Amino acid sequence: MAVYDPKSLKAEEFIHDGEIQETLAWAEAHKDDAVLIDEILEKARPQKTATGCVCAGLSHREASVLLACEDPEKIARMYEIAEEIKQAFYGNRIVLFAPLYLSNYCVNGCLYCPYHAKNRHIPRKKLTQEEVRAEVIALQDMGHKRLAIEAGEDPVRNPIEYILECIDTIYSVHHKNGDIRRVNVNIAATTVENFRKLKEAGIGTYILFQETYHKKGYLELHPTGPKHDYDYHTEAMDRAMEGGIDDVGLGVLFGLERYKYEFAGLIMHAEHLEAVHGVGPHTISVPRVKRADDIDPDVFDNGIDDETFAKIIACIRLAVPYTGMIISTRESEAVRKKALRLGISQISGGSRTSVGGYTEEERPHDTEQFDVSDQRTLDEVVRWLMENDHIPSFCTACYRAGRTGDRFMSLCKNGQILNCCHPNALMTLSEYLEDYAQPETKRLGYEMIARELPTIPNEKVRTIAARNIEDIRHSNRRDFRF
Ligand code: SAM
Repeated sequence: MAVYDPKSLKAEEFIHDGEIQETLAWAEAHKDDAVLIDEILEKARPQKTATGCVCAGLSHREASVLLACEDPEKIARMYEIAEEIKQAFYGNRIVLFAPLYLSNYCVNGCLYCPYHAKNRHIPRKKLTQEEVRAEVIALQDMGHKRLAIEAGEDPVRNPIEYILECIDTIYSVHHKNGDIRRVNVNIAATTVENFRKLKEAGIGTYILFQETYHKKGYLELHPTGPKHDYDYHTEAMDRAMEGGIDDVGLGVLFGLERYKYEFAGLIMHAEHLEAVHGVGPHTISVPRVKRADDIDPDVFDNGIDDETFAKIIACIRLAVPYTGMIISTRESEAVRKKALRLGISQISGGSRTSVGGYTEEERPHDTEQFDVSDQRTLDEVVRWLMENDHIPSFCTACYRAGRTGDRFMSLCKNGQILNCCHPNALMTLSEYLEDYAQPETKRLGYEMIARELPTIPNEKVRTIAARNIEDIRHSNRRDFRF
């Protein structure tokens, strides 16, 4: 009989069903307890220190009470604190990235994914290295510096050697002033040995969505293929860490199972990583299941409305204050706008979710993984971010400067992020403005840079950043970073 143990390496012990059920019952019993809720909110608030700010975060039980609470005033307070935390640790910077689909061959039977092996009406496609190069050039021409590569699971057609070759190709393309400086990887759970190879290939974050933490639901949703193995999937992040990857990205596919269960599981997973490896997840993604070829999201009866979705995002922000949060183009402009205030720190822009989609004139639908709601170009997204007072950042410095895992977290905790991420955001924005922006975006961008440069606290850093931006504007020099 499994017992709950966040330090265990066994999925059934760190994502313990009994503990989740008790958490949900406890949260339901206390959701109207105003005194307790105020205490939890007070604990979540950022506290000033001599060097910056700290946040205590929340346990899965505390955070679940907030998620269960339905009092509009308390929810408004949660949103305020989420915004305070976002400002304290991530400022108004938003990091941009794009997904790159390498192959939609897949041997799994995931019921929500159009790439499932039995779907005979989508064409199957795997990029050649020439095609990878062409996609990367198209992405560089948009202005992207950071990619998340995506592939179905197929040990024969998409073996790890293929993924590694693609990563090499991506890093090798330097078109005009473009280069991809960080490749994050979203591929199926794999072995420690393969994670080591990914680490050696220079990847940024290893991202794997749990889809659902509910084991029974998981087994039904993944009836066939290697992904059916719940334990192997759930324990993947521990193997990734053992293989030397210390930036890992969690996520749940919201809509498949009951969101309160998923939320508790997600926070428990973060607690487990912290307890075992001394560092929590680098990012958490919040995808919602979307319409796609052969997929009707309405058959899963756990869809969540936009209000609940916003509340989940805010509660994640309160529970794990130092973890980056990602929202993709699965969501509309309006949903993304609200989510940005509640704690999101990274978004995709100009995305195509089809294999080979970036080199096509029109958005191709035949191999698309899901409907993209936000169909704006990257430049439109960049401009919109600035109009809403967010600084678009193309920064990739951290992992290149070795600031991964707990080293990134300590930077975050001691407030040094303002002397580091802030100037890096402004310098990479300036690169974007010079190389890719439309005139109006460029105008707005330099206005923003002029406003933001003086807010860099360290005088020396401020002076160097200003000089580097001048260099970017007047010469061809690129890729400065702190
Ligand atoms: N094959 C890899 C795996 O098994 O983890 C990951 C790559 S898959 C391209 C990336 C993610 O897309 C999946 O983990 C899943 O959460 C998400 N996804 C699949 N079908 C979706 C749908 N219909 N709507 C929204 N997201 C979906």
